[in-house]
Parts: sequence; C-alpha cells; structure tokens
Amino acid sequence: MARGADVVDFGLGEPDFPTPDFVARAGIAAIEDGRTKYTDSAGEPRLRDAIAERYRRQQAVPCSRENVLVTAGAKQAIFNVCQALFEEGDAVAMFVPYWVSFPEIVRLCGAEPLFVPTDIRSGWKPTAAALERAATQETRGVILNSPCNPSGTVVEPEELSQILEWCAAREAVLIFDETYDHFLYDGRRHVSAASLWEKHAGRIVVTGAASKTYAMTGWRLGWALAPKALVSAMASYQSHSTSNASSISQEAARAALVDLERSESSVADMLAQYARRREFMVGRLSSISGVECVTPEGAFYVFPRVEALYPRKNVGGSVEFCRRLLEEARVAAVPGEAFGLDSCIRFSFATPLDRIEEGLRRFESWLRA
Ligand code: PMP
Repeated sequence: MARGADVVDFGLGEPDFPTPDFVARAGIAAIEDGRTKYTDSAGEPRLRDAIAERYRRQQAVPCSRENVLVTAGAKQAIFNVCQALFEEGDAVAMFVPYWVSFPEIVRLCGAEPLFVPTDIRSGWKPTAAALERAATQETRGVILNSPCNPSGTVVEPEELSQILEWCAAREAVLIFDETYDHFLYDGRRHVSAASLWEKHAGRIVVTGAASKTYAMTGWRLGWALAPKALVSAMASYQSHSTSNASSISQEAARAALVDLERSESSVADMLAQYARRREFMVGRLSSISGVECVTPEGAFYVFPRVEALYPRKNVGGSVEFCRRLLEEARVAAVPGEAFGLDSCIRFSFATPLDRIEEGLRRFESWLRA
C-alpha cells in the first residue's frame, strides 16, 4: 500500500516467480542482435511455426503458421477473436464464475454477454445442459476457460465434447481459453478443445499465452489458434490497431517454446510449489466454519464461498468484505462480484508459503474479532 503497510497479497493474478533465466536471456539477445523492429503484424513467422508445432505435437492439430496469430497476451487474442466474430445483436455465453474481462470484451463488440450458471455442489463444472438452459436464439459464441480463473475448475472431456456438439448444432463458435493449461494438480491432464479440432473444423478458437506458463506476464505475449480465414481477419484488425506483439517478447517466447527440456523443467518447479501452496491453503480455508471451499483442479486460485460470514462481519457483499479484510487485517483478496458471484472471494496462491500462512492466520483472527 502507498502508506507502506505490510499487506499479505492474495489478490495477484500472476506468477510470483521470475521469468526463467534462459527465456529472459533470449529477450536480451534479441535486443543485442537488433531484433527491435516491426515484425509481421500476425507475428514473427518462426514463432508462429513454433506455436503451430506445439499444437501439432500435443493435440495432433493439423495446423500451420496460417492458423496462428501472435498477440500482446491472451487478452488481446480473445479481444481480437470477439471483434472479428461478434456484433450488436449477438449473445456470447460464458460460465459463471467467469474471468473478469470476458463480459467487457464481449460488450466492446456491441454484443451481450450471456451468463450460464454453474453450481458449487458440482464443483462449478461447466456443462452443456446448463448452456442449453441459458442460451438464446442470438447465441453466436461460447467462451470457456479451463482451468478456470477464478474457480480452478477443469472442464470434463465429455462435457467439452457436448458443448462443442451444442456449438455445431447452433452454428456457434467455441473460444477456448487455456491460459493455465500447464498448471493442473493431482496428476490431472489438461483437456484442450484443440484435441477436437478436426471433428469440429472451423468452430474452435484456442487462446493461450506465455504469460503464466513461463512467468512472462509483463512481456505481453499470447496467441490464438484459429481457422485460417479468421486468423487473416484478426491479423488485418491487429495491423490497424496495435500491429505486432513486441519483437523482443516474441524472441523470448520462441526460446521457451522450442527449448522443451528447459521450459518443462521450469514449469515443473513452479507446479510443485503451487501444489504445496494449494494443499495448505485449501486445508486451512476448509477448516474455517462458514467457508465453503472447492479444491481447485488447476490454475493458482481458490474461490471459497464466504457469504455465510457476511452477517457476522456485518457486510452487504464481497466488495465490502474484501475492503474490510484489507483495512482491518491487511489481507488483499478479490471480491467474487468481479467474477459474477458475490457470494465468493478469490485468493491467489501465487505467493510464497510463509506469506500464505501469515495471511490465513490474519484472516482467521479477523473473522474471530
Ligand atoms: N484468460 C484468463 C483466464 C486469465 O486469467 C488471464 C490473465 N489474468 C488472461 C486470459 C490474460 O492473459 P494475458 O496476460 O496473457 O493477456
């Protein structure tokens, strides 16, 4: 805080780890080698190739450079996809809780977000049945984020395939945000919509980023994997808005993507630390009466339901709850209202274990006070 107070920050939406050294050095080398000019608006061809190669290798997607748009972060990828696809009169479905920017990105196209409820009792799982119940005739797209920020929920393979069947029947497009695809726990494997690419040709857009996987949030580097015609529309849009993502960041991300041995080892180190923190945080939160906690299957957030505590703290909702928690206990969390669920708050465990212990100790004693 500006006054220099010692705040335990559970609000962070980014890795607390530094960018791996070999990746940072590739960025430095790019500057030293003078790779500091414009690149193609759609991205440096070699990076687009490396991203396409990743999807060919991991998900057997028959894709090439022309299927890849390089963007300034996953956020710009989602933004560009929506700008290219949606307009006034369209509705775009998203499951609640949703990542904060989805509704705003949809509104910026003149379209309307359509909120699809999920239930804490079934672990906030997105389902095709819930989508069918909520959808309207105007629904042209679905945004699905797995692992999910804020709930940590991972879509079940069967549901993903039914959601895609639903999209096919309605001629809607699925935008699949896999920003957290490398961070799943308990041996769970990531299920990507990219694995259904061939079956649903033309109906899937996958967005991803170097941001969380390689601890590169500040570098601003993401991508979209999409049908070629859509990539070309988005590239044209991008050429008149921001042009290429940073040439330096592109070089660094390429190093991460092609040096599998080193990048996998750095991801494994981060994942091991997140896993320990997750266990500790979920264990402690679940033991607090009035806190209902689903164990996140991926990402690095816990999204407990705390509304039973609102009367006890005499607050009207999650915003006031978080404001008081910050002012009185010096613990920062994000109000669930931002994700469409005022009954919950989000705690990030992208913070060292000793700070998590301290923050939860403060949280507990604040609740008792
Ligand atoms: N999608 C989700 C679910 C996210 O949590 C974030 C970052 N918080 C993004 C997209 C955007 O990531 P980037 O920093 O790569 O734009």
